Amino acid sequence: MKNKAPVSKNEELTATIEDLTYQGMGVAKVDGYPLFVAGALPGEQVKLHVLKADKKYGFAKAIDYLTTSPDRVAPGKKELVQTGIAPLQHWTYAAQLKYKRKLVTDLLQKSHLSNLEVAPTVGMENPSGYRNKAQVPARDFKGQLTTGFFRRGSHNFVPLEDYFIQDPRIDEVILVVRDILREFKVPAYNEEKHTGVIRNVMVRRGHYSGEVMVVLVTKTKKLMGAAEISAQIQEKCSDVVSVIQNINSEKTNVILGKTSKVLRGRNYIQDQLNGLTFNISAQSFYQVNPVQTEKLYARAVELADLTGTETVVDAYCGIGTISLSLAQAAKQVYGVEIVPEAIADAKENARLNNLKNLTFETGNAEDALAKWVSDGIQPDVIMVDPPRKGLTENFIEAAVKAAPQKVVYVSCNPATLVRDIERFGEQGYSVIGALEPFDQFPQTTHVETIAVLEKAAD
Ligand code: SAH
Repeated sequence: MKNKAPVSKNEELTATIEDLTYQGMGVAKVDGYPLFVAGALPGEQVKLHVLKADKKYGFAKAIDYLTTSPDRVAPGKKELVQTGIAPLQHWTYAAQLKYKRKLVTDLLQKSHLSNLEVAPTVGMENPSGYRNKAQVPARDFKGQLTTGFFRRGSHNFVPLEDYFIQDPRIDEVILVVRDILREFKVPAYNEEKHTGVIRNVMVRRGHYSGEVMVVLVTKTKKLMGAAEISAQIQEKCSDVVSVIQNINSEKTNVILGKTSKVLRGRNYIQDQLNGLTFNISAQSFYQVNPVQTEKLYARAVELADLTGTETVVDAYCGIGTISLSLAQAAKQVYGVEIVPEAIADAKENARLNNLKNLTFETGNAEDALAKWVSDGIQPDVIMVDPPRKGLTENFIEAAVKAAPQKVVYVSCNPATLVRDIERFGEQGYSVIGALEPFDQFPQTTHVETIAVLEKAAD
């Protein structure tokens, strides 16, 4: 096949970086042909060495910076870029926030929604050490079980101790766990041979409660010394209230397996969000940035504009975090979520907070919504907070049938948000006010966005 690229491998050229990819790579354009440049920032003029030139795009290395961005900050740790943990750490936080707003705006421009406004991104005061959860792989490195991360898009293991965006206490606990596993000579998982024991160490910490959960994800059912290992973890870390073994014997990139057993303490940690208390078990989804989540939820509930008489559906409800906030202001809330453990947590959480106007169901959001509607439930507001792939056409169809006044859409992927806004548009629902980006993931290119859709008057 003829290579139509305007540049060729090993060529050197000078170009200006125009944009950033979702991976945080600089993008230079040569006659419209994109060249991806690791570490380069928008606005920078760079001397490039072409590493690879495919038909539609290529990769180049920055060999000299002729100009540097005024928003560039000290590079920090290169491992954090290579692993994709903090690909934007070399950019000022203000520039990151502007970029996230632009990401949403650009997607709207590319669709038929260029008339919509995007508010400035709501950021953090302190955009590091924010993550309340870590899931780090354990591998054999120089003959020892070591915790770290994979180089992005590869299986190359990079040992790490400071993850920069994780709660610093979580980083400490990981090292204590690593050392105990070393002492007990527990073999790390070997991906190629599918042998060994410890695949991942997951740690969660309650932002307000300080309670810590440690999950040892093992390839094997048997974990030799489990009782002593878990006892030592608790002895050395008095804030650990739960040690769990999760078994994942599959050849997969999915971190958690289906079975978990409690080695010590409880099977959950507790935390607070906006004054509500939540039990969180190992398998349940829980927002990773508690400081920003409080702002996000408060705003989502405010936008739902409840007076106390409304019926509300919270689809993709997880452990009921948004549902409970809604229940404080609505007549009745129906929540649906596909993970049974999360629904068990949600029910318990309603009870813990003494809220009685909630109904939770395990299931597929689109089926549950359709069923509720056919049972005669008429939601005034539907709140959705789907995973990255967004809503299905069936869900949108069921939502339109339910005919709520408002749909409040909390999205972790602006591309599917824009797609779904267009689909709702075809069904007579349009966006009211501006889209509001929230920075749930500082130092990364991820952005969370809230949009409110309303039914046009008949
Ligand atoms: N609103 C919650 C959870 C949001 S994450 C919170 O903020 O904590 C999205 C949730 O959707 C996850 O808990 C995931 O398990 C769930 N989910 C994924 N696919 C689903 C589906 N088809 N139906 C219902 N829930 C689903």
